[in-house]
Amino acid sequence: MEHYQVGILGGGPGGYVCALRAAQLGLSVVLVEGDRLGGTCLNRGCIPTKALVKSADLWRELQHAEEFGIQAGENSFDFAKMIERKDRVVNTLVSGVEQLFKAAKIQVIKGWGEITEAGRINVETESGKVSLEVENLVIATGSTPFRIPIPGVNLDGVMTSDNILDEKTLPEKLVIIGGGVIGLEFASIFQALGVKITVVEMLPSLLANIDEEIPKRLNPVLKKTGIDILTKTMVKEIKSVENGLVTVVENAKGIQEIQSDRVLMATGRRFNLRGVNTEQLGLELERGAIAVDSQMRTSVPNIYAIGDVTGKMMLAHVASAQGMVVAEHIAGHQVEMSYRAVPSAIFTHPEIAAVGATEQELKAADVKYKVSKFPFSANGKAIALGETIGIVKILTNEEGIVLGSSIMGPQASSLIQELVLAVEKGLNAEELAKTIHAHPTLPEAVMEAAHGILEKPLHFA
Ligand code: FAD
Repeated sequence: MEHYQVGILGGGPGGYVCALRAAQLGLSVVLVEGDRLGGTCLNRGCIPTKALVKSADLWRELQHAEEFGIQAGENSFDFAKMIERKDRVVNTLVSGVEQLFKAAKIQVIKGWGEITEAGRINVETESGKVSLEVENLVIATGSTPFRIPIPGVNLDGVMTSDNILDEKTLPEKLVIIGGGVIGLEFASIFQALGVKITVVEMLPSLLANIDEEIPKRLNPVLKKTGIDILTKTMVKEIKSVENGLVTVVENAKGIQEIQSDRVLMATGRRFNLRGVNTEQLGLELERGAIAVDSQMRTSVPNIYAIGDVTGKMMLAHVASAQGMVVAEHIAGHQVEMSYRAVPSAIFTHPEIAAVGATEQELKAADVKYKVSKFPFSANGKAIALGETIGIVKILTNEEGIVLGSSIMGPQASSLIQELVLAVEKGLNAEELAKTIHAHPTLPEAVMEAAHGILEKPLHFA
């Protein structure tokens, strides 16, 4: 029987980062993975979608090449080649993790693991059953796409983010059920490549969890590109017809049928408890997720849980941060997971990113706040890039301490990091405004929004 100090079930960004950090700290580590290292993030989520976002952006830019004085001639694209490039990007990163594991001497067991008691992982491998004795067990089994229970949900052509990325041809028309992050990222990618998109969302607005101002600004931008958006609309059924699928929806206007070749279910994700016998282990659950404390300890001694399966925030960087906390806690460090300043980024066109409080949250909590917005249409670099849609919005308390920020615009996913630091460290608007920002750059829009909290932005009347 092999014995390890740390045994991890699942090799996504939660599990693999936990393994790397534990090995750095001198602990002996075994990781069990039934599929490929990297989990959803590297294989079916963050990375493949962003590889396709790049192809879509490049194609979108080519459509506007003449604005920049470029006659690019007869352009065309080959979707199958975009998918091949996406696969190469994924493979590069997966093999990168494999190399890191080899260098760190982390043992990987390929196979589906099962845990029924603390201290042991049983694995079904190609060469038979393996039983691993582990002092500390880390559940990092992630999540899987959730299909809403309606008639027709399992028809051919009804897909999830797990399999739509492997299609080598483009649909002509695509219905996306769900106007959250995943639905809208796919909408942006496929719209750029000429697919007619309809997004169907049950709630009154897209992107329900972010500052209400952002979807209000995003809606018209998406509609202008030709994306149809139906909010407050329920999907009743999907039917197979001669030329594809028909999605039957209902809203205040009545029943409507939308024809398409494929339907993408982007209706959320479900905690994955594959191989985790929660009852036998006596693991406490919280609304279906594994309950954990701030050190990611479950209700069972020496069993930790990290990542999507804990239902905290389903983001790769949260899973990794939790994985680091676990490794360091096992190594005896004083650590705690904090969700005070977690950035979220949405790779639509334009991008969206946020951190901390939203305006509606501050209002609901009766917090007195200041708000400042600076438009990218007044930022020199954005004008030079030809990407002037969007704003930087900063929220502070009355003393100017940054409580939250939402950005819609070019490279929002990178720009947010300055505000993440501000929220994490309790910086105030003056500290941001008086920090010299290089010119001409997009971060100047953050500096200008900070000036707006103090008095007025310099480059906006
Ligand atoms: P996962 O990444 O789901 O990994 C879990 C692993 O455990 C899997 O490899 C699985 O095979 C393995 N496993 C499960 N059960 C067993 C078992 N019994 N035995 C052995 N192995 C097992 N997040 C971001 O932060 N940024 C983004 O841009 C982003 N884009 C996304 C786009 C899409 C389309 C999707 C679907 C998700 C996206 N996410 C993004 C979310 C992100 O992918 C997840 O939050 C992240 O992967 C969670 O990491 P994890 O380690 O908890 O689980």
